[in-house]
Amino acid sequence: MQLLGPTELSHRILKGDLCTSCGACADLCPYLKSHGGKIASVFSCDRETGRCYAACPKTGVNETVLSEALFSTPWRADPLGHYRKIYMAKQGIKASKGRFQNGGTVSALVIAALEQGVIDKAVLTGSDGIMPRPRIVTTPEQVLECAASKYIAAPTAARLNRAATEGDTNLGMVGTPCQMTGLATLRTNPLARSDFKDPMGIAIGLFCTWALSGEGFLSYLDQQKIDPSAIRSMDIPPPPAENARLTLAEGVKKLPLDEIRKRVLPGCSVCPDMTALWTDLSVGALEENPEWNTLIVRSERGEALVNRAVEAGLLEIRPISQTSVDNLTLAATNKRKRALAAQERLGMLDPAFQNPLEIQPKQTIMGFR
Ligand SMILES: Cc1cc2nc3c(=O)[nH]c(=O)nc-3n(C[C@H](O)[C@H](O)[C@H](O)COP(=O)(O)OP(=O)(O)OC[C@H]3O[C@@H](n4cnc5c(N)ncnc54)[C@H](O)[C@@H]3O)c2cc1C
Ligand code: SF4
Ligand code: SF4
Repeated sequence: MQLLGPTELSHRILKGDLCTSCGACADLCPYLKSHGGKIASVFSCDRETGRCYAACPKTGVNETVLSEALFSTPWRADPLGHYRKIYMAKQGIKASKGRFQNGGTVSALVIAALEQGVIDKAVLTGSDGIMPRPRIVTTPEQVLECAASKYIAAPTAARLNRAATEGDTNLGMVGTPCQMTGLATLRTNPLARSDFKDPMGIAIGLFCTWALSGEGFLSYLDQQKIDPSAIRSMDIPPPPAENARLTLAEGVKKLPLDEIRKRVLPGCSVCPDMTALWTDLSVGALEENPEWNTLIVRSERGEALVNRAVEAGLLEIRPISQTSVDNLTLAATNKRKRALAAQERLGMLDPAFQNPLEIQPKQTIMGFR
């Protein structure tokens, strides 16, 4: 995989409509920022190589490098990636109650990591009305405020970049596979900087098959005459459900999932990762019982946190059925196949996609490129 710079990022990914607003390229330098759910270049940059390009999960993922760096093991193309154990899990009897998406495993793990000094702070995704808002948390109460899934794409990785740039270390982060892939690549120090320090204490990934464009979803709500500020929560139940559920002051409103899916970001179609392969721990729904989670333990660090959370009564784990693992493997395999087919269609697997572009950056002082 060739390391290129902001010109190629701008032309191939941002203008190519492949960006999923993960935020991994933003807030690494003074030029690329996340603003209103989009990535904006506030000053042009003519560097031939940049961390922004390296971090972007859409420019290519070097699985060999990531596997060696994160797990000290050669990459093997298992659809679920490298893992040590898989469990069903949910919050334990000593955990505080909250409005969790599923079993509350993610919140329980973050609280355990904070309480036991595994991390000092965590980057999570809260919300401002219906829009997701990345934020830094340091207390269990703040972790609970961020519980539940926001189905609109969020630049969570940019908030992590900002914290790391400001010198924070011992950080936790929860994010979708694209956000966590960007973070994982940055942790390999792709530009071999001499001042590099890995800022991470624990990285927790979420399973993901798609996220909505904020702009697209707001315009759909407008068509439906729904005031976004009146939405208290939004739930997208797993198949075979056909409707999303919006909780409004006057009650629950159902919206057809077929219509909602039309607002999925185009860049999600080329995303091969369903289970957040490049993390310490990955968490998703447990298909047969959404009150529980599926928990994939990938690293030694992840395993140590799970053991400590169980000992503290914050987490409950049980053996998972082979049927659940088989179904998850099939879903992950199918997502990867669909993504590779889409990448092929869009020319992303063509060697020319990795060649430098002969374009001089426009000398703008401010604006989207
Ligand atoms: C966009 C999206 C799509 C998903 N798709 C699937 C799927 O197809 N299959 C599946 O099994 N699971 C999916 N999940 C994960 C699932 O919804 C739950 O997050 C997961 O099961 C953990 O549940 P929990 O009860 O432990 O989480 P909780 O304890 O409720 O914690 C949820 C955590 O999610 C984080 N979060 C919320 N929204 C976002 C966001 N937009 N970006 C980054 N982080 C966020 C918060 O910081 C919070 O810490 C998806 C999640 C998201 C955000
Ligand atoms: S996908 Fe992420 S890293 Fe790539 S351009 Fe978009 S925000 Fe930046
Ligand atoms: S499908 Fe992939 S690209 Fe889209 S939000 Fe989920 S992890 Fe990101």
